[in-house]
Amino acid sequence: MQTIILLGAPGAGKGTLAERVRDVAHYTHVSTGDMLRAAVKAGTPTGLEAKRYMEAGELVPDAVIMRLVEERLARDGDGKYMFDGFPRTDAQAVMLDEVLARAGAKVDKVFLLDVPQDVIVGRISGRRVCRKCGAVYHVANIPPKVEGVCDQCGGELYQRADDCEATVLNRLEVYNRQTAGLIDFYNKKGVLVRIDASASPKATADAMLELLG
Ligand code: AMP
Repeated sequence: MQTIILLGAPGAGKGTLAERVRDVAHYTHVSTGDMLRAAVKAGTPTGLEAKRYMEAGELVPDAVIMRLVEERLARDGDGKYMFDGFPRTDAQAVMLDEVLARAGAKVDKVFLLDVPQDVIVGRISGRRVCRKCGAVYHVANIPPKVEGVCDQCGGELYQRADDCEATVLNRLEVYNRQTAGLIDFYNKKGVLVRIDASASPKATADAMLELLG
């Protein structure tokens, strides 16, 4: 089993980067945000519980997240995993280490996506997501061929409710308060790699793929 993590503020480009790395290097992309949005859409008990936290830009409780991740790993088994938006707290990182240790595995590399805060706000406010397949676009930086329509599956593109300006500022604050400490956590383990993610998605993906070898 191989595990890599994409760490970075909301809007740093984790989802876009993950799509490219998944397609080229064949990692299983595990985005807890995508899993939660699917649960909200399907109206499952997890979705109902998670919705209010997500709408406020707050973190969903660790126990809910760990249950989702453990179920996913149990279902998909041994493989190459790329976590996106997980872990987001010290407790999640410690629990992930325990789950992996039980499978005889560990976190192999953590990519920290470095992006200045002003770039982040612009990226989030222009972000559009496919309702059907979750592909990520940006009105200026990664426009779809036809406005409002997904290039990959023809699905409708929409703006996430939590991408509005008021929620974005809270999500950035939550990142600084609850997630940024993971930089130190993984740095101490010697698995942290910083990549400049302020350039184009392609340049960032190429840099990451080179590091993955
Ligand atoms: P994302 O798509 O990664 O930006 O996640 C969207 C929202 O889902 C976040 O603002 C949180 O409310 C929730 N969420 C996603 N992943 C996690 C996680 N690992 N821990 C707690 N909450 C999460």
